[in-house]
Amino acid sequence: MELLALLEHRLAEVDRAGLKRRRRIADTPCDAHTVIDGRTMVGFASNDYLGLAAHPALRAALAEGAARYGAGSGGSHLLGGHSRAHARLEDELADYCGTFVDAPRALYFSTGYMANLAVLSTLADKDTMLFSDTLNHASLIDGARLSRATVSIYPHCDLEALEHQLQACRLRHKLIVSDAVFSMDGDVAPLRQLAALAERHQAWLVIDDAHGFGVLGGGRGAVHAASLRAPNLIYVGTLGKAAGVAGAFVVAHATAIEWLLQKARPYIFTTAAPPAVAHAVSASLALIASDEGETRRRRLEHAIARVRRLLSQTAWQALDSHTAIQPLVIGENQTTLALAQALDAQGLWVPAIRPPTVPAGRARLRISLSAAHSDTDLDQLESALLRLSLQAA
Ligand code: PMP
Repeated sequence: MELLALLEHRLAEVDRAGLKRRRRIADTPCDAHTVIDGRTMVGFASNDYLGLAAHPALRAALAEGAARYGAGSGGSHLLGGHSRAHARLEDELADYCGTFVDAPRALYFSTGYMANLAVLSTLADKDTMLFSDTLNHASLIDGARLSRATVSIYPHCDLEALEHQLQACRLRHKLIVSDAVFSMDGDVAPLRQLAALAERHQAWLVIDDAHGFGVLGGGRGAVHAASLRAPNLIYVGTLGKAAGVAGAFVVAHATAIEWLLQKARPYIFTTAAPPAVAHAVSASLALIASDEGETRRRRLEHAIARVRRLLSQTAWQALDSHTAIQPLVIGENQTTLALAQALDAQGLWVPAIRPPTVPAGRARLRISLSAAHSDTDLDQLESALLRLSLQAA
């Protein structure tokens, strides 16, 4: 078969399996209400948990950053692209999130995907056994592959299984890696127990707090919420979700960060993010740490409590999530897609998450909540879901 014909054949298969994805075009900022493909929708699809993406202070900071530093960084961090805005942001992040370690230092990345590739491929190598939760994010899976470590996958949050694997390990180096808040289930990893295991087995512990930073622990994230002190911990937070801008950061002991800076190829061989973006993230950090940040977190908690109550009343399986990620497991791809479409017809954008993002047969609606959602938005979701649930029963 010709190469293009082969791809067409495979694309048709993807479509038949209910796995075709399509992009929607937004004409307005990410907010509770967004104009998507020309229609105003109530959005339950974003990771903008605090509703900061459209915040006037962040828009102003981005503009001010562009006025001060220009549009692009012009180079990689080690070759001229590292600006005062990046440097200041790293100091602020280390101060804010580095409560778990002595001598905390931060490193800023353009995306969380790259931060995870960097951390795993730099701290693990072919002499490392890398222990990974089965529900870890794709960027951690890819980072593990890039590292050439031997990967040992443990069942979701199963500490006993993890301990057995650690005991059986004969490789020289060990690294445990876990999402803090699991991106498709919304549950929180047992961080204190993971840290205890890591300490007992002299392993690095890499925690990806993409969905906890800004929200949990009064904004400082899941590790802070768990009151951890753990010198072998490497903390990754992202800045395009609750922080409402873009990028990611790693906080760890200064020596570990210096090692990343010297060796991490996904850090070294790429153009630094625009300084204006770092400048806007600094403004976001100030907001997250402020009374307004606290008010937004309380507003989000209110939305979470409401939606948890709602999901427990439907015909489908609600997962026990206390975070802004509220999944409703439907099962089959086509049924899940049909439900998402029915919600869409009522002006509600709730994404259908299908394999390979989640296991086969576990397709789900992923309702993601924001401090920007009003009670009217939640009422609308409630009546639509309850009506569909009655029809399905
Ligand atoms: N880790 C987790 C758990 C995520 O959910 C995501 C994004 N979906 C990332 C990392 C990647 O972050 P970014 O979008 O900044 O690349």
